[in-house]
Amino acid sequence: MNDAIRITRTATKKEKPKDKDLAFGNVFTDHMFVMDFQEEKGWYDPRVEPYGPFAMDPATAVLHYGQGLFEGLKAFRGRDGKIRLFRPQKHVERLNRTAERMCIPTLDPEMVLKSWTTLVDVDRDWTPSSVGTSLYLRPTIVASEPFLGVRPAKEYLYFVIISPVGPYYAEGMNPVKIKVIDKYVRAVVGGLGEAKTSANYAASLYAAEEAKHEGFTQVLWLDGVHRKYIEEVGTMNIMLKIGDEIITPPLQGTILAGVTRDSALTLMREWGLRVSERPVTIDEVREAASKGALKEVWGTGTAAVISPVGELAFQRERIVVNGGRIGELTQRLYDTIVAIQYGAAPDTRGWTVTV
Ligand SMILES: *Cc1c(COP(=O)(O)O)cnc(C)c1O
Repeated sequence: MNDAIRITRTATKKEKPKDKDLAFGNVFTDHMFVMDFQEEKGWYDPRVEPYGPFAMDPATAVLHYGQGLFEGLKAFRGRDGKIRLFRPQKHVERLNRTAERMCIPTLDPEMVLKSWTTLVDVDRDWTPSSVGTSLYLRPTIVASEPFLGVRPAKEYLYFVIISPVGPYYAEGMNPVKIKVIDKYVRAVVGGLGEAKTSANYAASLYAAEEAKHEGFTQVLWLDGVHRKYIEEVGTMNIMLKIGDEIITPPLQGTILAGVTRDSALTLMREWGLRVSERPVTIDEVREAASKGALKEVWGTGTAAVISPVGELAFQRERIVVNGGRIGELTQRLYDTIVAIQYGAAPDTRGWTVTV
């Protein structure tokens, strides 16, 4: 593969939003990264070009059978002015794991990393600097072959877009109310649950809408077979503290291997806490709550980093966690990870890549 990246800069720069007006995923920078795949050529023509729409044949494979994948990672501007990507290598690995599962040709890890650092560098002036703001990178691969047939496509499009985003919590970290779902399921062993692919989100929308109408922010999925083991929240992995044990469901094929999940587990193990990756049923959580042993519950994901859960609703029951307030460990994890992301604490684990 010829990996020289061509850069075509835009002639008309967009107006940048003010930091205080930043939300999530509604504004995009001036450029995007694009690369093509054809069976004979492999991945070719990596390039940065002005952000803009793609022309697509109506028969384009991804539009019909959903063969595609995505990633989501962030870049932060520290008080020292430096821009840091958080654990990009982990995201590269996951991108290629998802690619395998989706019958998409894998990419050269070096090239993927370079696509992110190059694009962030070209659009570096877009990196906001206020507390809680960042650049959200959305690498995506879609089957671009115009062909109506059920088989892996022979052509693909890899692209990366960037959205400057605001703090996930406009009024500070507020514990969320989550509905535990046993009527619908997200994934089963052997399915797509561990792949970061749009199909998982398509499968989740109906339940999430139902929960929203009832006043909940997110849903907590149970396993698809017994409908009793806790799996994950819509866009986040879940962790619970019961007594002095911290529990998160194991990676057994149905949930996403979150990078934030891994970061939180690493930190808590370093802190000498008792951490278990093991199956946990909703009944165990209910019983713990009734005995006063359910200390904290939180979600982990790139968008919110750490998201405290104040209430779990299951069937007719409402389980209030820590009086609906943020727990001590939840806060400590958030503060520690955020400090590394913004370069306020030393990166002793090689988690950040400076652009
Ligand atoms: C992306 C994602 C997560 C969070 O993963 P991070 O790497 O921590 O951002 C969790 N669950 C699902 C379904 C996801 O798509």
